[in-house]
Amino acid sequence: MNIEVSRRGLLRVAGAGAAGTALGALGFGAAEAATAAHVRAFKLARTTETRNTCPYCSVACGIILYSKGDLRKGETAEITHIEGDADHPTNRGTLCPKGAALKNFVHSDTRLLYPRIRKPGSKEFERVSWDDALNRIARLMKDDRDKQFVAKNAAGLAVNRWTSVGFLAASATTNETAWLTWKVVRSTGILAFDNQARV
Ligand code: SF4
Repeated sequence: MNIEVSRRGLLRVAGAGAAGTALGALGFGAAEAATAAHVRAFKLARTTETRNTCPYCSVACGIILYSKGDLRKGETAEITHIEGDADHPTNRGTLCPKGAALKNFVHSDTRLLYPRIRKPGSKEFERVSWDDALNRIARLMKDDRDKQFVAKNAAGLAVNRWTSVGFLAASATTNETAWLTWKVVRSTGILAFDNQARV
């Protein structure tokens, strides 16, 4: 962005800054904070609060998503604000810069919202339903496991390995979800198991 400020304009801006600092020194900073706190309530009024977990890293900070639009009336819910969850034991309301920018992630034009498939020989990805995607993944996994599962090694010891498939889970979950995911994946014999936080 190119902004041209004349010498007179620059002095005016500097003067305003100095006046602002002086007002702050006189206690108007607190008044400003009080006004912001007052206005904030209106910003969030009539929004729905939904607790969630930041999806970026294994710290798994608690967040609150504020959305407008009543799904029960057939309206589309739109997320208008996201902030740290002050009641969450991990982050107690704080967020790192990535977490603080989550709203942009949610509304990003390049965000993938639906499962898509690129069929053999095709250059294009096609949108498919969640049912179709999950059925296809389950089918392919079952067929591969039936062929590749190794129950015993050359010495006859039970190893129960399935090494031809890997599983990438999400680190941004609760302990309970992570525990269940671990149990399910390991029970299939999959060894290559990771998540985006590499933990
Ligand atoms: S807010 Fe930052 S530290 Fe917390 S889970 Fe998200 S990325 Fe990790």
